[in-house]
Amino acid sequence: MAETYDIVIRQVRLRSRPGELVQVGIRAGRIAAIATGPLAGKVELDGEGNLVSASFVDAHLHLCKVYTFPMAGDEALQRYTGGSMGQAMSAIELAAAVKDRYDESWIYPNARRAVLEGLRHGVTHVQAFADTDTRARLEGVKALLRLRDELRGVVDLRVVAFPQDGLLRDPGAEDYVRQALTLGADVVGGIPWIEYTDREAREHVDRMLRLARQFDRDVAMLTDDAGDPGLRSTEMLAEATVREGWVGRVTACHARAMSLYPEPYFRRLVGLARRAGLAFVTDPHTGPLHLRAPDLLEAGLPVALGQDDIADAYYPYGQHNMLEVAFLASHLLGRSTPQQMEQLLDMVTVQGARVLRLPDYGLEVGRAAHLVVLEGATVPEVLTRHRPPRYVISHGRLVAENAETTRWHGQIGA
Ligand SMILES: [Zn+2]
Repeated sequence: MAETYDIVIRQVRLRSRPGELVQVGIRAGRIAAIATGPLAGKVELDGEGNLVSASFVDAHLHLCKVYTFPMAGDEALQRYTGGSMGQAMSAIELAAAVKDRYDESWIYPNARRAVLEGLRHGVTHVQAFADTDTRARLEGVKALLRLRDELRGVVDLRVVAFPQDGLLRDPGAEDYVRQALTLGADVVGGIPWIEYTDREAREHVDRMLRLARQFDRDVAMLTDDAGDPGLRSTEMLAEATVREGWVGRVTACHARAMSLYPEPYFRRLVGLARRAGLAFVTDPHTGPLHLRAPDLLEAGLPVALGQDDIADAYYPYGQHNMLEVAFLASHLLGRSTPQQMEQLLDMVTVQGARVLRLPDYGLEVGRAAHLVVLEGATVPEVLTRHRPPRYVISHGRLVAENAETTRWHGQIGA
């Protein structure tokens, strides 16, 4: 008798073999078969010739701030996104006012809504930043840790304890980061470029790396997020990573000043980043300057796209749809050949998994079954539509199904 799978997805296309229709069998939470012949399943889903992919990874989201735009006003937004990001620091200072009202009780439902919006769009893995400082205190961290534990086995949330307003500028923030790690935060954050001097930026990096070693945690910092070619905190982070023996465990997010660096300095930085095994996350839609993602990818470094913000003081939009993020990046980075589109899709899937160091991720037999059946038979079609997936499978279970229907009236659609 033929084997029976928990779920069989019928008639789908793989990105690597688009001309062929296959069946994917899932059993006990894993991808158990990918076959051209028929498979039998307790549940059978018809893929109708669409593309199947590993699910989406959002490597960078400020999850404690989602949907706070109405509380924040638009002054911070104007300063962050205006001109060449000369006022990025004052934008962050203005945006911090929201944190005086931080309370786990309203952050939790906002965060939950954003994560479920993501899941509906096929996002099964999220690196979520929680402001952890003297104004936010532990309110954001507690909300996100509660959500992480509640959604375990459905969405993998990784909580970053993030001292958004600096360490030396905000005495006491380091204690809050330490407390957050004691409560179970997964990753040590940081934002060295916001300190007032290079010496203090270096100290910021060093202190956070010491905490990471002490608690055995990965590190994800926001570096050089303003329009100043003199900012050097990505270099500081890479250098400290090597010195502290934390190679391969550190991510630099934003790093937008990179776009203004002289070419010889940029090339040295790429070499240093390789030595440090530094990973990068970029979010071109939330600011006018961009990390040089194509060059870093060409150097073999992990580079992912992140949603970054959803309706907060820095960005007024966002549906937690990583295909939309990739679609926007295609325009903002000027990447629209078929090969470049493939790379963009990688940046919301396999590259995200490299950044988060997910050991069990990918569309291969034996790997964990985190899958999406997309709207479209080819990568260009999928990006053009950037629709919610037809089916979202997380940890081997069907968790969401989306349908689009249009009802024509009169003779228009006949
Ligand atoms: Zn960010």
